[in-house]
This record gives sequence, structure tokens and C-alpha cells, in this order.
Amino acid sequence: MNSPEPAPSLTPEEINRFGPDPLALFSRNLASVEDRIVRACARAGRARETVRLLPITKTVPTHVLRFAHAAGIREFGENKIQEAVAKRAELADLDIGWSIVGHLQTNKVKYLTRFAREFHALDSVRLAEMLDARLDRQDRSLDVYVQVNTSGEESKYGLQPGDLLPFLDELRRFSRLKPRGLMTLAVFSTDLDTVRPCFERLRALRDTAQQHDPAIRELSMGMSNDFEEAILQGADVVRVGEAIFGKRSTPDGHYWPAAAKP
Ligand SMILES: *Cc1c(COP(=O)(O)O)cnc(C)c1O
Repeated sequence: MNSPEPAPSLTPEEINRFGPDPLALFSRNLASVEDRIVRACARAGRARETVRLLPITKTVPTHVLRFAHAAGIREFGENKIQEAVAKRAELADLDIGWSIVGHLQTNKVKYLTRFAREFHALDSVRLAEMLDARLDRQDRSLDVYVQVNTSGEESKYGLQPGDLLPFLDELRRFSRLKPRGLMTLAVFSTDLDTVRPCFERLRALRDTAQQHDPAIRELSMGMSNDFEEAILQGADVVRVGEAIFGKRSTPDGHYWPAAAKP
């Protein structure tokens, strides 16, 4: 008989957020997200396998993430590189693929290239250049999604849509970067009529970009509140945090400038 995994003890704040049994919570939430994805795919006339769920683990403490692994999650997406580096070191015994989905400062490049499989927020030639140089030294490659600002909000990172094609031309000289597609953060609104145009814009940009560079195939868009809409608009990767791990107490302004959820 297998002995159960030793349950790491939870602080009162953690019990407040994750309940006394995070494994049960994550399993339940995961099943419910899966159900929502299946239904959105059915509505969109798409096969379930065409959509990848990328769980976003920011603010979930490392010992709690062991329950996420136990619940079957094998991909962790983190917004901040420092947080990812620390968690990865503490979870080195687990088989996990790491993605970085948030803005990266050029002086943090060396941390990312050591272990990340994917980067969803590429938005400058300088960053691409530095990533490529580091990856080359480490004899590694990295899947990248080019972040585009589809909301017109000044506070958002990402390329302006008009700069995308020239940017893709520049990317060609970086052999260690494997472009997969485009990523966006939609406008922060619970009103789908407000959010939808951002997804439509990214899809239209992808269609144009793909004719320019066939590697630009995927759309990384949609979060807890709007991933069904994103799937209807063609999302290939949905990045989902709170719907799996519960509400964060850290304001999102900590992760992207001046962002506020209604
Ligand atoms: C936190 C985060 C998400 C997930 O947001 P939720 O609302 O928790 O689903 C997606 N993308 C990025 C870039 C994030 O930082």
C-alpha cells in the first residue's frame, strides 16, 4: 500500500484561501474549468484537443503547488521570473514544464533561459536579442509568443499592432527563438462585448502574420473570466489562474501596470 503524501501544513491564511484540502479544491476546480472548455469548444465547433489549458500559478505558495501537481497539473505558468525561479528550485523533484507569461526585464533574461520552456510576453527586439544570445550559450531553444497590445491601453505591455510584421521580420535572425504565435491581455472588463474586440483583433493579426510567417499559428488569449469567449474567437492556449487556484489577494496591478479588475 502506498503511504499518502505527507500533507504540508497550511497557514491560517492559506486555509482561508485554499480550504483545508487544496487537493480536493484544485481537482474540483480543474474539473469545472475542463467542463467549461469542453462546452466552449462544442459551441465553437472545435475539437477539445485544439485548446491547451495553461494553469497560472502566481501567488500560490510552493508547498501548496504540490497539491496542484497531485491534482494532475504538469504545466505551471508564472508572471514574475523571480517567483518562478524560487518555486522551480523548491519543486525540482517534480516533473513540471514552466512558462513565463509576464513582462521580462532584460537584466532577468539569464534566469528565464535556464529553465523556461515558453515565454508569452516577447515584445521587443532587444529582449529577443538577449534571450537568443543566452539560449545559444546554453544550447537551448525557447517557444515564444509575441505579445500585442490589443486594448489600446497605454498601461499594457506589448507591441502596437502596426509594429507586428516588421518585428516578425527581425525575429527571423534569432535561431534559438521558436515563434509559436501571438499573446494578448484583453481589456479588463467583465463585459464580453468589451473584451471580444481584443480577441478578434488578435485573431485578425494572427491571420495576417501567419501569411507572412507560417510559424505564427497560435493565439494565447483568455483568462478565468473570459476564456470561453476566447475559445469562441479561436484561442489555442488559455491562461487560467483564479478559476483553478481561487481568488488572489495580491492586486493585479502588481503584475501589470495600472491594471484593475472591476
Ligand atoms: C495572472 C495571469 C493570468 C491568469 O489570470 P486569471 O484571471 O487568474 O485567470 C493570465 N495571463 C497573465 C499574463 C497573468 O499574469
